[in-house]
Amino acid sequence: MSFTLAIVGRPNVGKSTLFNRLVGKKLALVDDQPGVTRDLREGEARLADLRFTVIDSAGLEEATDDSLQGRMRRLTERAVEMADVCLFMIDARQGVLPADEVFADILRRKNVNVILAANKGEGHAADATILEAYSLGLGEPIRLSAEHGEGMGDLLATLRPIHGAHEERAALAAPEVDVDVSDDDPNAPRTPTHAKPLQIAVVGRPNAGKSTLINQIIGEERLLTGPEAGITRDAISVQKDWNGVPMRIFDTAGMRKKAKVQEKIEKLSVTDGLRAVKFAEVVVVLLDVEIPFEQQDLRIADLAEREGRAVVLAVNKWDVETDKQIKLKKLREDFARLLPQLRGAPLVTVSAKTGKGLERLHQAIIRAHEVWNRRVTTAQLNRWLTGMLEQHPPPAPGGRRIKMRYMTQVKTRPPAFVVMTSFPDQVPASYSRYLVNGLREDFDMPGTPIRLTLRDQG
Ligand code: GDP
Ligand code: GDP
Repeated sequence: MSFTLAIVGRPNVGKSTLFNRLVGKKLALVDDQPGVTRDLREGEARLADLRFTVIDSAGLEEATDDSLQGRMRRLTERAVEMADVCLFMIDARQGVLPADEVFADILRRKNVNVILAANKGEGHAADATILEAYSLGLGEPIRLSAEHGEGMGDLLATLRPIHGAHEERAALAAPEVDVDVSDDDPNAPRTPTHAKPLQIAVVGRPNAGKSTLINQIIGEERLLTGPEAGITRDAISVQKDWNGVPMRIFDTAGMRKKAKVQEKIEKLSVTDGLRAVKFAEVVVVLLDVEIPFEQQDLRIADLAEREGRAVVLAVNKWDVETDKQIKLKKLREDFARLLPQLRGAPLVTVSAKTGKGLERLHQAIIRAHEVWNRRVTTAQLNRWLTGMLEQHPPPAPGGRRIKMRYMTQVKTRPPAFVVMTSFPDQVPASYSRYLVNGLREDFDMPGTPIRLTLRDQG
């Protein structure tokens, strides 16, 4: 399916104008008067070398009563569901209005990529809105002028990696064996909060037990397992309601059995692991209790962190371990020493073979995903920042004290924060670490990657 961008936002911000620019034809109706009734429309867009489908959700009457509110919401939700990425547009001349919050709210609750665009951004009238737009918590705003064609380069730069990931996913989907093994049990608990399945990748060395684990989770002997390392290395995915939570599990072991030199297999499985990591929300790094924390394990865990994924460490084959207490202590020490960047990430022991510990693993995945999605309000953050600054003021290089004025969360998945500060280049890395560790502790975000950006605000 072609990559799809939906343009959403309240009436009259300039959605159709952007749609027209992207599609290049006067397909969408543009009108000065808010209130021209239109519905979703689709067009084939081009932006530099990118080709994609664009959906315009323009043209809802000002939401003055409940039914219009409802209609606006439904239409936006429909557009969001059809899209791989949503461009959420606000009017930079008007600032962030309460009506914008309604859309921001819908987008935050949906599991979707959002590009925040402040349109009508030509000239200085828009300056204040750009800063204000951060507070929507939907990432860094792009300044656009749909009418004058400004900011299209920034839009392209933001869109390109998302588009690229989609293409890669499409390529991966081709050999995908998609088996829907949803539980039929009507009494099974359902958790409606996950509209889209939670995306999990199970990665680890050949023979760590990935296929066995996935078989155990989905409850059938669907994947091939075997004692010899290197059976089959095609990425595949299965969808399954696991304890009532829909999940899509990417496995890097595949269906074909290939005889290859060990070295080559290891290399291959790393590459597949890397691909799976890119699509996952939660990465389960499966370790073999007999040889945990090998180079390859460390590399993939580190990669998952750098890619901003939630990480869960699972130590497999726990059934063969005799000195469980001592071993667990040793594992925790090794974890802290070898993967300090993942501090606080859950480490659980499982036996893929017997199914023991799977409940714990399930809980750890849900919890890691939750933390990864955590949002802290701007008010809370600024209160917190004041306290942190008092407790341990930033240094004063050359006698000029660094002043941090404002902080907000710009993204979740993983949580990302921006601090407006004077002399951002002179803030020592240790001070950033102090803030990141503080965020982790005070807002209960163990184990998730946290991004902190310092931005110059004089
Ligand atoms: P929609 O309801 O969100 O689809 O908004 P439209 O695309 O119909 O635009 C509403 C009005 O804003 C029209 O008069 C457009 O000409 C105007 N407009 C759109 N983009 C810009 C822009 O970048 N700058 C300025 N100044 N006006 C714009
Ligand atoms: P993969 O290469 O990571 O997919 O590993 P497999 O799932 O093919 O498992 C490799 C071998 O380890 C097989 O012989 C499995 O039976 C064995 N194995 C997997 N999980 C466990 C476990 O929890 N306990 C024990 N004792 N053996 C396991």
